[in-house]
Amino acid sequence: MEKMIYLDHAATTRTLPEVTEVMEPYQDIYYGNPSTIYEFGEKSREAIEWAREMIAGTIRARPEEIFFTSGGTESDNWALKEAVHLHESMHPGSRGKILTTPVEHHAILNSCEELKQMGCGVFFLNVDETGRVFLAAAEEAVLENEDACLISVMYANNEIGTIQPIDELGKMAKRRKILFHTDAVQAYGHLPINVQRDNIDMLSASAHKFGGPKGVGFLYIRKEINLPAFVHGGAQESNRRAGTENVPGIVGMGKAAELAYKRMGMESRRIRHLRDYLAYRILREIPDVKMTGNRKYRLSNNASFCFRGITGEAAAILLDTQGICVSSGSACSTGSLEDSHVLAAIGIESEWAQGALRITLGAENTKEEMDYVVEKVKMVVADMRGMR
Ligand code: PLP
Repeated sequence: MEKMIYLDHAATTRTLPEVTEVMEPYQDIYYGNPSTIYEFGEKSREAIEWAREMIAGTIRARPEEIFFTSGGTESDNWALKEAVHLHESMHPGSRGKILTTPVEHHAILNSCEELKQMGCGVFFLNVDETGRVFLAAAEEAVLENEDACLISVMYANNEIGTIQPIDELGKMAKRRKILFHTDAVQAYGHLPINVQRDNIDMLSASAHKFGGPKGVGFLYIRKEINLPAFVHGGAQESNRRAGTENVPGIVGMGKAAELAYKRMGMESRRIRHLRDYLAYRILREIPDVKMTGNRKYRLSNNASFCFRGITGEAAAILLDTQGICVSSGSACSTGSLEDSHVLAAIGIESEWAQGALRITLGAENTKEEMDYVVEKVKMVVADMRGMR
């Protein structure tokens, strides 16, 4: 493949070479099943426990509060669906209610939809024009929805990078004795997280978003919460998540977590500078463009824009022909381009939302690449507007 400029780190990241290296022996040398009693299986068990401790340490949790899953989607499904089951078992006759936001990932939104079909209530908290939850409105919603059993608000948004007031929401949930879950798939490995300080009861994360392999993640569940199992079968993960463990994946995620938290400060400063440089040039040199999301509470690698008069999907395809990987903000369904639900929720008109482009940076990007990308974005946007 010709040189490619990868700017879609919110979609996935490259598995770091150090991560691949620690995973390898668990594929072909120490391949024992961790549930077996002989010493060979012990090797795999030890590796899993090493990863559990490593990950627990990064969010100030206890190792026994970390449960390995197949990724962010499973963790989100588990947290939501079983929180509702837990509520039902404690309050027979009540289906409970989830308070969430309209800017969540579909792993949350579609789980809510499923729960709604089964009689559970779902209430959407208001967000401002940057996608952040209005705290006062959330407080009111908590008071008005007495049957609320769970607040689920993402740590940071995957499209526009907005970081939510997690500490305040955690305090509110604790005060009202409501469980608090956060989908931290975009935040874990990129932001410091402290589940104790922020009163987080459950937290979802996914390895492939921070330099780990795909198809592995975890759900943190506070020890005091008796969240029922979601996947049933064997006794793995303390009887809470059945299925032979993805040992190489789990070890890889542990290593990726170690590296992400070790390098975080320096890395995010460098990436933020590059992102700011890119955003400055795009906003200054291209007419009719706006940046979406929050200036202050924002993931340092996220630059998301709306260009008026173009379609983001077509722009992403044209940029691909120039060797640049970025995402558009719309989802193609039945042949028409639907506006992103996130952009719709923050009040971006369709005329702008159609022209959404999400650029998300990573450790390997350089200033030269940013210069190249600005020139190509300028060219593509001008072409599409028929201005060249
Ligand atoms: N939640 C958020 C905020 C995400 O960005 C994603 C993936 O893009 C997911 C959940 C799903 O994670 P996974 O790909 O590990 O299933």
